[in-house]
Amino acid sequence: MIRLFISPSPLFAAGDTFPLSPEQGRYLTSVMRLGVDDEVLVFNGRDGEWTARIFEVGKKAVRLELLVQTRPQTRTPSLILAIALIKRARLETIVEKATELGVSAIQPVITRRSNADHTNIDRLRLIAQEAAEQTERLDVPDVLPVAKLDKWLDSGAFTALVFPDEETTHEAGAATMLESLKGAQPGDHPAILIGPEGGFDDTERDNLRARPDVIRVNLGPRILRADTAAISALTLYQAALGDWR
Ligand code: SAH
Repeated sequence: MIRLFISPSPLFAAGDTFPLSPEQGRYLTSVMRLGVDDEVLVFNGRDGEWTARIFEVGKKAVRLELLVQTRPQTRTPSLILAIALIKRARLETIVEKATELGVSAIQPVITRRSNADHTNIDRLRLIAQEAAEQTERLDVPDVLPVAKLDKWLDSGAFTALVFPDEETTHEAGAATMLESLKGAQPGDHPAILIGPEGGFDDTERDNLRARPDVIRVNLGPRILRADTAAISALTLYQAALGDWR
């Protein structure tokens, strides 16, 4: 069934009706060719997932009526992916895949070798939303405003930072990450930082290595592109410490 993320959203309550955004209304009626009484699933990140029926296809808006809750709200465990700005297509892939892999937030960062100094955050938010709809999440990860790497590192946004570093020894693999993070407490905010296509420069790498809250890991003997590195690191984390266990 079609799933829609509703934002901004009213409180969900059975029998209530509400208007869809013009884009979502058009999607249901013009693209998917649905009409009055057809049903969809909706979620808003707060009230779980509900079935809703198309109540009215009006001139001004398409209105849905909330029927029953199908799943109660769950909280996505805290896991931040910080990703250096890279070429648009790969960045968009990373946002989609990270959403599927269960991150709670995505932090684009500017590094010295970033391929860009800005990105279209609204577009990344839409990609995260569409991925959340498709992957049956009950929330959408926050796509945070772009920050400079140094500022973000000192902002207190995370409690431990996994840093996949292609220049670590090959022993610092999955087991290291597991060992360093296994004492994590429920209130912790772990993050994973992936560098740009050109890697981190020496100053950035030295700075990261010097921090006590950074855990360097190696993702194997081959150099991965940033998108592969992000997917691999998230997979490793979820399997060892996250919600795949
Ligand atoms: N140093 C490189 C490659 C950067 S790859 C160059 O100069 O071209 C982009 C990012 O992916 C890196 O910053 C790192 O975070 C991650 N990465 C890629 N391969 C990795 C590996 N084998 N181990 C750990 N991290 C890796």
